[in-house]
Amino acid sequence: MTTSFIDTHAHLTSEQILPHVKGVLERAEQNGLAKIVNICTDIKSLEEGLRLSQEYPWIYNTAATTPHDVEKKGEIFFPYVERAATEGKLVAIGETGLDYFYEHSNKKVQQDFLIRYFSLALKMQLPLVFHCREAFADLFALADRNYPSAPAVLHCFTGTREEAKGVLDRGWYLSLSGIVTFKKSESLREVAKYVPLDRLFIETDAPYLAPHSHRGKQNEPAFILETAEVVARTKGIPLEDLARASCENALRFFAF
Ligand SMILES: [Zn+2]
Repeated sequence: MTTSFIDTHAHLTSEQILPHVKGVLERAEQNGLAKIVNICTDIKSLEEGLRLSQEYPWIYNTAATTPHDVEKKGEIFFPYVERAATEGKLVAIGETGLDYFYEHSNKKVQQDFLIRYFSLALKMQLPLVFHCREAFADLFALADRNYPSAPAVLHCFTGTREEAKGVLDRGWYLSLSGIVTFKKSESLREVAKYVPLDRLFIETDAPYLAPHSHRGKQNEPAFILETAEVVARTKGIPLEDLARASCENALRFFAF
């Protein structure tokens, strides 16, 4: 029997994966992926995502403009996200958040869109998928004011243990990607040890961030096993226990 996983964050309709998506999904199925949460970040990836989930009912979609792109594309995409949410076609809103590391969009614009996504998620009763880099203080402050005790996951977490505590204190989930498998990621493995099993997701963030043994290559959901193995080993628990718990968490969280 193969162990089942849910990849809680992949960009299947990105231009890197979409042309090969059939093969990618075949390998995902062979490797025990029971569901994949596809993150749509613009009009085209959302249209393709909705089409994909009709063909493959185990693929689910979320949508939002990333904090990188809100300045250029946030306004035009927002009504599409709203409509898809209203029609019950999304399992979460996101990825939204703040990225002060790259700061591809002005900080104020990132914050304004984050607040709009808070309202949309609350109105639609959908959970939020956060992206946050070097901006935890502002994310926490804005969420405390505009999105108190509402469901969220911090995707591809790479912050400190203190920031992980901030995530958990707010009742949010924390999601680990292939970064946790990198040799240098000792402090992230400390976070993996620290996060309770009932608050943890695993994800690939494909096509980005392939785990250690595929590093530098295009990532895909089938590679989630390596990340899961490292997290299970780090926590000192059987792989099956990690797989079961992280699947239960995702099932509790997303509007599948
Ligand atoms: Zn992503």
